[in-house]
Amino acid sequence: MHLARFPRLKFAHLPTPLEPMERLSKELGGPEIWIKRDDCTGLSTGGNKTRKLEFLMAEAEAMNADIVMTQGATQSNHARQTAAFASKLGMKCHILLEDRTGYDDHNYNDNANVLLDHLHGATTAKFPGGHDMPGEMEKAAQAARADGKTVYVIPGGGSNPTGALGYVNCALELLSQANESGLVIDHLVHATGSSGTQAGLIVGLKALNAGIPLLGFGTRAPQPKQEQMVFDLACKTADKLGCSGIVTREDVRADTSYVGEGYGLPRQDTLEAIRMFAELEGILLDPVYSGKGAAGLIDYARKGHFKKGERVVFLHTGGSAALFGYDAFFTNTSLAQAAE
Ligand SMILES: *Cc1c(COP(=O)(O)O)cnc(C)c1O
Repeated sequence: MHLARFPRLKFAHLPTPLEPMERLSKELGGPEIWIKRDDCTGLSTGGNKTRKLEFLMAEAEAMNADIVMTQGATQSNHARQTAAFASKLGMKCHILLEDRTGYDDHNYNDNANVLLDHLHGATTAKFPGGHDMPGEMEKAAQAARADGKTVYVIPGGGSNPTGALGYVNCALELLSQANESGLVIDHLVHATGSSGTQAGLIVGLKALNAGIPLLGFGTRAPQPKQEQMVFDLACKTADKLGCSGIVTREDVRADTSYVGEGYGLPRQDTLEAIRMFAELEGILLDPVYSGKGAAGLIDYARKGHFKKGERVVFLHTGGSAALFGYDAFFTNTSLAQAAE
């Protein structure tokens, strides 16, 4: 496995810190909980998509793209980070946004990540929930190509084998940090969605024979679908790296019991996790991904799924910009109650 063979734009602030969370660990009373700060990767408030975009946007640059297109939910962090990356490269960016929640709230629809998309000069188009977004994006790309433009299309979440290389790289980085500091990692957990993060991590951990169990906490799909998506992408990513066959189906574990009603709809335990991280550690999570991942982490610690003294690393995938699109959940009691 040799990542340097792949084009990469080193725009991320790496390595991201690996820090203990002493007050949260004390509060939960069992495992020693650490945090890998991928919310600090840089580019328009950071997050996990920056690592994927280092590899994706290198391909866009190599083909001299005029415009990059991608898609996501209204409050997509991936869309915002793609827009920021495109600004830095002087490329245009067009984003297709799907309304997956039906919220008519002003901040949800126009503030937070959407505000940042537009500040970075991206154009956006909105579609109703359940729309064929990949098909729509292909149509938009065809139209731009017919107009003489060179278009680079990024799938939702940047989750294809190229994007997943960013998380193979994260696995290398985390292992070398742990080795250097003498930290033995017993569990690695994070929020999983379009699956590139988990797929890349699995490939990196397996290639290094790290022996660290990885668990993704789901944010959208039911468990069988989520695990299958991660497995398929992990296999393709291993193929791309020339190490086919290193990933087995048993390496892929996702717990989707903290999703609640659906994608982008926070639950009471999501909001509690956000408050706990903010009040105990001064760290901002988000209501769509990291808040649900942290709700899983907290519940596992309370239920004793992580044993006393075990060292658990929570990979913080970012997303705090979305908080400002979800302010009503923290201020408006009817919405907060609806989350119960
Ligand atoms: C996209 C995203 C995730 C999920 O990562 P995937 O690679 O899509 O599975 C987790 N957290 C945040 C904040 C994200 O924006």
